[in-house]
Amino acid sequence: MSTRDWKGTPSTFRAVTHVLGLVYVVCWPCKRYAPLYMTAEIAERDSRRTTFSCSRCGAEAKQTFDDPAKMPGMVAEVRNGPVRRHPKAIERLTRRR
Ligand SMILES: [Zn+2]
Repeated sequence: MSTRDWKGTPSTFRAVTHVLGLVYVVCWPCKRYAPLYMTAEIAERDSRRTTFSCSRCGAEAKQTFDDPAKMPGMVAEVRNGPVRRHPKAIERLTRRR
């Protein structure tokens, strides 16, 4: 399937996962990753304008379609309850605006 076949709003997470498959969010400094779970809240967001941050180190986490489990040294994030934004991420995000 190509992006031309998508009839919904382009560039939303719903659109990119429909066309390209599962999105992973990766923190390269920590070598940790998690699949992006398609909740109602995230599905209609513009994937190009949505940023993620690592809850452990506060670095900007990147989106990828490549399965991080196949990359050497990468560790899957295990979540136990709600995740708080790292203070360094808050500082970085508020400085940009
Ligand atoms: Zn990190």
